Amino acid sequence: MRFDYDLFVIGAGSGGTRAARMSAALGARVAVAEERYLGGTCVNVGCVPKKLFVYGSHYAEDFADGAAYGWTSAPPSFDWPALRDNKTREIERLNGIYRNLLEGAGAEVIDARAELTGPHSIAIDGQTVTAEHVLVATGSWPSVPTVPGAEFAITSNEAFYLERFPERVAIVGGGYIAVEFAGIFRGLGAETALLYRGPLFLRGFDGGIRRFVADELRHKDIDLRFDTEVTAIERHGDAFVVRTGSGEALEVDLVMYATGRAPNSAGLGLEHAGVTRTESGAVPVDTGYRTNVPHVFAIGDVTGGVQLTPVAIAEGMCIAYNLFGGEARTVDYESVATAVFCQPNIGTVGPTEERARERFPALRVFESTFRPMKHTLTGREERTMMKLLVDGDTDRVVGAHMVGPEAGEIVQGLSVAINAGATKADFDRTIGIHPTAAEEFVTMREAVR
Ligand code: FAD
Ligand code: NDP
Repeated sequence: MRFDYDLFVIGAGSGGTRAARMSAALGARVAVAEERYLGGTCVNVGCVPKKLFVYGSHYAEDFADGAAYGWTSAPPSFDWPALRDNKTREIERLNGIYRNLLEGAGAEVIDARAELTGPHSIAIDGQTVTAEHVLVATGSWPSVPTVPGAEFAITSNEAFYLERFPERVAIVGGGYIAVEFAGIFRGLGAETALLYRGPLFLRGFDGGIRRFVADELRHKDIDLRFDTEVTAIERHGDAFVVRTGSGEALEVDLVMYATGRAPNSAGLGLEHAGVTRTESGAVPVDTGYRTNVPHVFAIGDVTGGVQLTPVAIAEGMCIAYNLFGGEARTVDYESVATAVFCQPNIGTVGPTEERARERFPALRVFESTFRPMKHTLTGREERTMMKLLVDGDTDRVVGAHMVGPEAGEIVQGLSVAINAGATKADFDRTIGIHPTAAEEFVTMREAVR
């Protein structure tokens, strides 16, 4: 049987775009369906607009710090619609670039929702098409717990398009999005509270890093409330009252939930192809991203794995090269570097100190905290932290963690060395670049633990 396409990709986000583009470039007949926005979450309501907002929100400190370096200017003021709309223009430009990339590679872009109707058939735009292989790359969607009044809260999706900038914000959650947006709202001038259900936010990150970040955010007047369960949200005119399990009532202008993202797999017709899902909606796959049905694949957030754009892209590359390039690639998840763009940033690669201690009995920990040179003049109370984890048995550096300006940029470089198997001796014989913060990573000599 001749199929209409060799590969039909559902979802033109980070993973789907890469898989479609590379497969088409390798000569496959490819269509990709996108129901909402080309580029998916990352480009439209994720990494890209978020990072632009992070840049925007840092100017308040930059203006203030300038005075110590001799700069004076009229008191700065902030225009939310200018930032919001400049950001939206950039996103629209990127949407166009994604279309050109896909079409330029020879993939057909279909601007519509796609649903499976059978093992090889897909309903789209009132038509049915067939494909030899199907790739589910439909991403994830914010998940908000059922709390009375939750309908008054926004998620990150809406935060990018607010009509008015709020004076007082409550953010519920303690993961990537909650801490990043706490920094954004605070930097742009809102009184900001972060309400987290556990004793310390950023679960899964290195313990020392989590405590250090909590101190830094408190210095920036972010009101961190840990061990705080939200029990109800009430509307009082234009304001909202957030009630907590301990009887507190916090009045704000905006409540934002950042309590995780669930796989986006409902209503996709997966059952018509016989594809199974877990209770949470994730589509389980093997190391080659095959679902339980051999010709249906899934990558990215919908698989319930690591929810990061470069991971979805790496998985998309595997699909293309394995299906149409005759290769058998897999993705190595062992040392995926990641950054949290809170202020200051977190950059991290490899296990936390706690996990490394279980895996490497002779673990040696090198750690340094210091005031960034820039703030010797400004007097700002911001500190930087760096940590290297070394397996004492092999001398290999197994992890690096940092909190500080541009931590993501610095740890990206370190992650190459760590993935290549660099030892502490390799770090020690590397000559630093002076004066930088990053040189501290090659000058830490005495293990602290
Ligand atoms: P997505 O990029 O979400 O793409 C899925 C696409 O499928 C969507 O465009 C959707 O409209 C489409 N779709 C769904 N169903 C259908 C259907 N039936 N028919 C047609 N189309 C459909 N990651 C990082 O690495 N760094 C960051 O700094 C970062 N920041 C983030 C900030 C925020 C606020 C959020 C929410 C996420 C962030 N992420 C970040 C995570 C990153 O955006 C995701 O991990 C990544 O986008 C996942 O890619 P994906 O291809 O799996 O899905
Ligand atoms: P995260 O999984 O990072 O964090 C979710 C937070 O919400 C956790 O603190 C969790 O608490 C809490 N939570 C979960 N359920 C509830 C509940 N029912 N009630 C109260 N609190 C709850 O998800 P995010 O939404 O922050 O982000 C989604 C994903 O997107 C991230 O995991 C990340 O992979 C990706 N992302 C990446 C970014 C980057 O690379 N810089 C930036 C933004 C997002 P607990 O820990 O106790 O379970």
